[in-house]
Amino acid sequence: MHHDKRPKGSSTGEPPKEGERKYLIGGNWKSNGTLASAKALIETLNKGGPIPANAEVVVAVPFIHIPLTLGSLRGDIEVAAQNCGVNEKEGAYTGEICAKQLVDMGVTWVVIGHSERREGFGMAGEDNELVVKKVKVAVDAGLKVMFCIGEKKEEREAGTTMDVCAAQLAPAAKLLAKEDWSKVSIAYEPVWAIGTGLTATPEMAQETHAGIRQWIATNVSEDVAQAVRIQYGGSMKGSNAKDLLQQPDIDGGLIGGASLTEDFVTCWNCCIRRS
Ligand code: PEP
Repeated sequence: MHHDKRPKGSSTGEPPKEGERKYLIGGNWKSNGTLASAKALIETLNKGGPIPANAEVVVAVPFIHIPLTLGSLRGDIEVAAQNCGVNEKEGAYTGEICAKQLVDMGVTWVVIGHSERREGFGMAGEDNELVVKKVKVAVDAGLKVMFCIGEKKEEREAGTTMDVCAAQLAPAAKLLAKEDWSKVSIAYEPVWAIGTGLTATPEMAQETHAGIRQWIATNVSEDVAQAVRIQYGGSMKGSNAKDLLQQPDIDGGLIGGASLTEDFVTCWNCCIRRS
């Protein structure tokens, strides 16, 4: 296995107490990186020092850099894909990579339903049902999933943020079995904050995170609502991560731009136990 070669890494601080949610810090490299720059970034992360024991760190790398990352990234950072096919098995699905193939490689996480994929880059994007079918296929194959949801600028301005999130969550409440939720982290990413430098204020993000947790309590179960992690995504960086991560319902981040630099290390060091 690739893992054998990976340097160990190290942790610091206290693990989460019984009933506390462990922070989840995800990096999303998107379609960035050459072989040389990916190697340099892995080196930066390997030298990034200890990871707080109350945090889990994952990087979602381009498919093409998965073998490199699995072979050389420190072993205490997990590796995610940024998408997978909706096909359950390998086969005649040109251009797709299925969850089973990811598991076979040693990948443990996948990002599903990122707003950029929902939008579609000028192609047909992924709708709420397709996204959740992929979540289910991925969980069934043994992957953990960062399941992205979030509203657009005009939807926030129209006051429909929670309606949009509820519509994105509703197929999951139907399709996922209760035990599947332990493999899922919800990444709440207001689309207007992604890659724009605009961040939701901690209070604004907290309000929506609490709304999402309440929705899960009502439509899935109270237990799942208490256990499920809800990450914030949208221009999170070292300088704003601490205030966001202190909010009671913000359990981590999904970080794009800042995950391409040493600033990602600053972000994971912002996982300070909430008082
Ligand atoms: C993301 O890619 O999910 C994201 C939130 O990007 P950024 O941090 O660059 O806004």
